[in-house]
Amino acid sequence: MIIFKNSKDLKKYFENIHDSVGFVPTMGALHAGHLSLLKKCREVCKISVCSIFVNPTQFNNPDDFKKYPKTIEKDVLLLEENHCDILFLPDENEIYPDEQSRKKHFDLGYLETILEGKFRPGHFQGVCLVVEKLLHIVDPDFLFLGQKDFQQCMVIKRLIELMNKNIKLVICPILREDNGLAMSSRNLRLNSSERETASELHHTLLSIKQDLTSDNFLALKNKAIQHLQKIGFKVEYLDLAKEQSLELVSHFKEGDHLVLLIAAFLGDVRLIDNLLITS
Ligand code: AMP
Repeated sequence: MIIFKNSKDLKKYFENIHDSVGFVPTMGALHAGHLSLLKKCREVCKISVCSIFVNPTQFNNPDDFKKYPKTIEKDVLLLEENHCDILFLPDENEIYPDEQSRKKHFDLGYLETILEGKFRPGHFQGVCLVVEKLLHIVDPDFLFLGQKDFQQCMVIKRLIELMNKNIKLVICPILREDNGLAMSSRNLRLNSSERETASELHHTLLSIKQDLTSDNFLALKNKAIQHLQKIGFKVEYLDLAKEQSLELVSHFKEGDHLVLLIAAFLGDVRLIDNLLITS
């Protein structure tokens, strides 16, 4: 694996490469979920590029940024073991050399007004800011993202349209711990009993899916929130949406493709999860 810290060197390296390039952007503290994206990338593309950059502009909560887990030595070993070809590891100055470089606005429309967009103001602007820069630097043919961040996938799809780039998006399934908890770097901040409790997010979505009919979502939602609050969660949202547009719905008709999405705090750790539903 070659490690580049500087975008000029990486671009220069790619001048002589004409094979298909796949890109897996991450914020590090790597787990099997990230590695599943790399595996898919290696299946599809000749050259695999991962990046690790904890992007300050996408953290609407400074404390969350400060406490974000960092395990860089372990990450490098994991990427090497998993045959990543190139790691892009920029520092903050490389991505944001001056104040101006933090200032662009992206027209995300409705997508930014709901769910993560509503509860994390500015978050998706920060995501677009960094992903746009990374896509210019790496210039991949394929981009690999996790369904774990369902709304982020839609935002980046929109970003690629705005950039007018020909990049194919590959959305990979959510990897889970044995107890059902969606793997996440933030899980490192949970102790073992909290990890057990945290798995209830997934089980709650599964039980809603099982009991869901075309017109009972709001009743199921209220019951689920009460249950989650009782075991220690502070729920930010629990919503049902159309899979293609993320339009929030409480009723649906047979054949609709839907997704259940949840965000909740356990202590000061914010967790998200989602579950696809074909009615
Ligand atoms: P992050 O490092 O959290 O920014 O995530 C980097 C990429 O890995 C994103 O595309 C995530 O959606 C994806 N990812 C995170 N957790 C998982 C998971 N449990 N399963 C699959 N992909 C994931």
